[in-house]
Amino acid sequence: MGYRKLSACRRLLAVATLLLSLVSLAGCSLPLASESEIDSQGDAEFRKIRANTPVSTDAAERAYVDCVAQAIIAQLPAPYADKNWEVEVFDSEQINAFALPGGHIGVFTGIFKVAENQDELATVIGHEVAHVTQEHALKRYNREATARIGVVGVAIATGTGQAGADLLGMATSLGMSLPFSRGEESEADTVGLRYMAAAGFDPRQSVALWQNMQRKDKLGPPEMLSTHPSPEHRIDDLVAQFPEALALYNKARAAGRSPQCQR
Ligand SMILES: [Zn+2]
Repeated sequence: MGYRKLSACRRLLAVATLLLSLVSLAGCSLPLASESEIDSQGDAEFRKIRANTPVSTDAAERAYVDCVAQAIIAQLPAPYADKNWEVEVFDSEQINAFALPGGHIGVFTGIFKVAENQDELATVIGHEVAHVTQEHALKRYNREATARIGVVGVAIATGTGQAGADLLGMATSLGMSLPFSRGEESEADTVGLRYMAAAGFDPRQSVALWQNMQRKDKLGPPEMLSTHPSPEHRIDDLVAQFPEALALYNKARAAGRSPQCQR
């Protein structure tokens, strides 16, 4: 083995040692987030949004959104159904809505431009709440944290040091405005459709909602579509789930769950 080769081997060995120590360091100092930590971040994020966005003062509008949201919340699995959910209507032209870990639902009044009746609004709220019950924010956070450990590892190993120092002080934001993965989006569609149907909202109206969204998209994309895949991809998937959703819907109606939420 010549000198050059030996030196390259030593360098590789040094890099490997650094990476190994980094992994153990990361293991102690950067644990992945727990559900309760994500809940607190959701609480903080919601307070921030409320501090910066005017809320609707239209009592009928607020009661309407609350009526749809509460009907869906009642159908959520434990522990979500028993949580004290906060439902807020923001006075904003944004065509958007969200749900946050910790039990928060936010609807922007702009959503009424595409959600024209209670069933269409239930489609939106069902979808957003499903992101919470399926723990998508927690999963995304931990995906990002893992990816960052890798990036910092390479930075340390290659001698671009400051990133390593940042590792310990890193406070990853929950990044509510970031998109979920395509798989998480279709899971939220599927699970959300079940929730709305079990609450007694007509699941067939989900297609109308996404068609309205698509129509608006041609004039300028609704904010909701900046973090959500194009409606055309989801409509076929939703239709394929109608038999199951309609069975839930008929059962709900037979059991007297027949919401009459009016704007
Ligand atoms: Zn979504």
